[in-house]
Amino acid sequence: MSYTTSCHCGAISAEIDGDLPESGMTCNCSICRRKGHVLHFVAAADAQISAPKGTLADYTFNKHMIHHHFCSACGCSPFGTGSDGQGNTMVAVNLRCVPECDLDALAIHAVDGASL
Ligand SMILES: [Zn+2]
Repeated sequence: MSYTTSCHCGAISAEIDGDLPESGMTCNCSICRRKGHVLHFVAAADAQISAPKGTLADYTFNKHMIHHHFCSACGCSPFGTGSDGQGNTMVAVNLRCVPECDLDALAIHAVDGASL
């Protein structure tokens, strides 16, 4: 099975190979608290990113390790990319941008990113 995370206008998206997760991660770091993400991490090989030229905006801060992508037209952030620390590229799926994901049914793991 697969599912798709997409921005509001549909310009950028990522098709994820795998079943919808039963849990998601929230975080209280400086960007997550503002954006309100509910995240699920997958290997880059399991994510087919679609982003026509000029649609994929990128924001980095601090160590610039994580690419907080967002749509240049509608501003939504359906996914980000980064490394897992062992050199593997990961995609952080924002489950709030997956229409068929039942957010209220997810087990939420709150990460204290602000203390890292
Ligand atoms: Zn958009």
